[in-house]
Amino acid sequence: MNLTLEQIQDFKGKYPRQIWSLFFSEMWERFCFYGMRGMLVFFMISQLNFGDEQANLQYGATQAFVYAFTFVGGLFADKILGFRKSLFWGGLLMIVGSVILSIDPHQFFFLGIAFTVVGTGFFKPNISTMVGKLYKAGDSRTDAGFSLFYAGINLGALLGGYFCIAIGKGEMFSSFIPEDKRWNVAFSLAAIVMVVSLVNFIFTQRRLGPIGLQPQTLNADGTFSPMAKWKEYGVYVLSLVFVPIIMTMVSITEYTDLFMYIVGPLTLIYLFYEMTKVTPAERKKLWAALVFIIFSILFWGIYEQSGGSLSIFAANNLNKDLLGLDPNGVNNSGGAFFIIFLAPIIGLLWIWLSERKLEPNTLIKFGLGFIFLGLGYYLLFATKFFANLQGITSLNIFTIALLVITFGELCLSPIGLSIMTKLSTEKLQGMMMGMWFLASAYGQYVAGIIGANMASAREGATNYEKLITYTEGYKDLGIYALVAGLVLILISPFVKKLMQEVH
Ligand code: GLN
Repeated sequence: MNLTLEQIQDFKGKYPRQIWSLFFSEMWERFCFYGMRGMLVFFMISQLNFGDEQANLQYGATQAFVYAFTFVGGLFADKILGFRKSLFWGGLLMIVGSVILSIDPHQFFFLGIAFTVVGTGFFKPNISTMVGKLYKAGDSRTDAGFSLFYAGINLGALLGGYFCIAIGKGEMFSSFIPEDKRWNVAFSLAAIVMVVSLVNFIFTQRRLGPIGLQPQTLNADGTFSPMAKWKEYGVYVLSLVFVPIIMTMVSITEYTDLFMYIVGPLTLIYLFYEMTKVTPAERKKLWAALVFIIFSILFWGIYEQSGGSLSIFAANNLNKDLLGLDPNGVNNSGGAFFIIFLAPIIGLLWIWLSERKLEPNTLIKFGLGFIFLGLGYYLLFATKFFANLQGITSLNIFTIALLVITFGELCLSPIGLSIMTKLSTEKLQGMMMGMWFLASAYGQYVAGIIGANMASAREGATNYEKLITYTEGYKDLGIYALVAGLVLILISPFVKKLMQEVH
């Protein structure tokens, strides 16, 4: 079944059928990724005897590197490997990483993590770019496709985030798994699902036509010849060389700050260099993409309090008035749970609106993303009005805040993936998608700094005083988000010009 690009893109109905295969590959990859991520801090504290602060710093470093590496993964996909081979190589490295961790997580912890970091860099941006390729430029169903794909991401995140740590801690299947093998099994599960992801992708490839094939080299006489094998193998070797480097950088967190200061400017310089090689119209679109990328740093900086200060807030200041659920469980998985249901519905809403010529453009969607984020953080602030004197407040209100924040995420995150594919030139698709995720690395980094500032202000305070400090902090973040949303709407005429025919 050798489909042409036109046959794929001229699909009837709401979604191209290939999206389901990409949905499942990404779902299992996210299961592996979030499964591991969910175990990191707990494992470091309980098994490697790290202090809380050290474990958190190390966790932050891993997150920063993982998203920073997406730029490298995207770049090599554009230049040498193509999206399919990149994804496959990334998946293999992730399997190797999780197999190493399943063999001896205590001894080879950072080695396994380093493999996973590099692997994710090759996998994550490139599968997202392939989703964009299923659509013709200007197809108004694209955002809906990315929203559906985003539901897959979160289904994997929810399942992986739950099962891996539950097995590791012995809360699940503890009667079958000997106590000293629980962590091995938990990491093996991450490896197994990653194999499922890749096997699923192998079957998918047949229906992808020319999408994601390796780029060819343009000869002087205008003909094309296959990419030189040494370049391809060079990328494989180079990525293996990165493994020990990342291993060292992640284990010594002082390097993270340095890395973050250097990598951002370097990638910008590289982007500006690439911008000199494109037409003026393409350059304008890349500028517009950069505006979205920069705003997304602010978005994730506020949003990602969920892994940091909000998890402390959930542990100290929330009751169990929502069906007796554990507040930290709700904080960890509530967002993903809402997305699985809301993402397809919002996707269909975009299609419904576009059929009536009412669909908001990307700028307005981003603006809405910030406004929902701001309102959600304002609700987090408002939990203080429901607190008792012990500083314990309502999980119900907190969950409503989470729902509102999730609406914001759905207006920004899948739409961001979609707009990257629309604004990038053909040859920079992977790199721009990598930059989009690199912004997440910075977002996580900023989030850590904001969270640490909130935490340091409250040492020795009572639980009630802690509640006040945190909620005041959330109010400020809510205001920043609203201001960002307004700024976006204000500059929208200018950015619209840069975007030209893209909406
Ligand atoms: N949760 C989404 C994912 O895993 C978005 C991550 C991000 O860009 N920060 O893909």
